[in-house]
Amino acid sequence: MDSSDSSLSGRLAQLRQRIEQACLQAGRPAGAVALLPVSKTFPVPVLAQALDLGLLRMGENKVQEIRDKQAELADRAVQWVMIGHLQSNKAKDIARLASEVQSLDRLSLAQALDRHLQTEQRSLDVLVQVKTSPEPSKFGLDPEQLPAFMQSLRSLDTLNVRGLMTMAVNSEDPQAVRACFATLRQWRDRLVELGHEQVQGLSMGMSGDFELAIQEGSTEVRVGSALFGARNYR
Ligand SMILES: *Cc1c(COP(=O)(O)O)cnc(C)c1O
Repeated sequence: MDSSDSSLSGRLAQLRQRIEQACLQAGRPAGAVALLPVSKTFPVPVLAQALDLGLLRMGENKVQEIRDKQAELADRAVQWVMIGHLQSNKAKDIARLASEVQSLDRLSLAQALDRHLQTEQRSLDVLVQVKTSPEPSKFGLDPEQLPAFMQSLRSLDTLNVRGLMTMAVNSEDPQAVRACFATLRQWRDRLVELGHEQVQGLSMGMSGDFELAIQEGSTEVRVGSALFGARNYR
């Protein structure tokens, strides 16, 4: 692979190779880890290019941005994945537009989504976002609350709970980062033992730490900058 290839297809190929390599090093089958491209802040033509390359799911963290991009890409089959903090008053838009929410972190939001999904006659894949680091800036459910929360979700038929999501601590210390990922995996295992067999997915790992996440059992990495380039926040 030519590491100077800066086209999107070149970066995608390099990223897939790094994911595969990390799988093999972790003794996991190549292909054990899915890629969620995180397209937040990138303009529609870049998303169109990604769609042309067969990337159909797009991770976004703002409802308004999903609405705008969806309107421009209305003729394309995009599966919008909400990965950012979601206010309950935006649940209606998400129930209409998204194929998945990875940032479910409270019952009131789950109930709001369920209500709107029933109206839309849709269902939604969800991951429960878990707070695995003490940073106050990180959203997510406290892990101790997971068993009761999962139990409450059982009655919401429109939500298909397929796993857990976390963001690791922002740290230079790989051990601290790994500990966050290990915490998420251990809670997943515990929930499966408690009878929540559908809770298998572990969405963990971003551009800066996905190799560590794969070592700790990630089943999906959410990658933005390593795929699309540096983000330009305005
Ligand atoms: C932005 C974002 C990512 C991707 O971050 P990169 O470092 O660009 O790969 C992953 N997950 C969440 C929740 C994000 O907000």
